Amino acid sequence: MSELGVGRPTKRRAGSAVGGLPVADSRPVLDGDAVLGSRCTVCRYPTAQQHLPWCPVCYGATEPARFARTGKTWSSTVVAIPVGTRRPPFGLAYVDLDDGPRVLAHLDEPAVLALGTRLEITGTDDGDLVATTEVQ
Ligand SMILES: [Zn+2]
Repeated sequence: MSELGVGRPTKRRAGSAVGGLPVADSRPVLDGDAVLGSRCTVCRYPTAQQHLPWCPVCYGATEPARFARTGKTWSSTVVAIPVGTRRPPFGLAYVDLDDGPRVLAHLDEPAVLALGTRLEITGTDDGDLVATTEVQ
């Protein structure tokens, strides 16, 4: 009797964080006062990923770009279950950066924010962006 799938490669591989094979980390990178990414040289579409081989919209060439750390809340939630090493409750928000792409960030305090609330990316925690509400 053979065991189905044993020894065969799978699409889902454990990342290096849990002792598996190294996999690409697609999370946005914060560098000082900017979020690093790429911008299309043809249609100007911004992405929060670096070194993209081509634009996801028009297949044009991309160039490295630096985006502002500030933006507006597109959506937010409070997570009530443990995820990885994170313990609930913790807040997550999608932030539309002022001159760039939409990025996912952890909130410094668990809260559901009004749409359009101003946020600032203030740092990273275990590789994830951390955002706080901008002081007016
Ligand atoms: Zn493009």
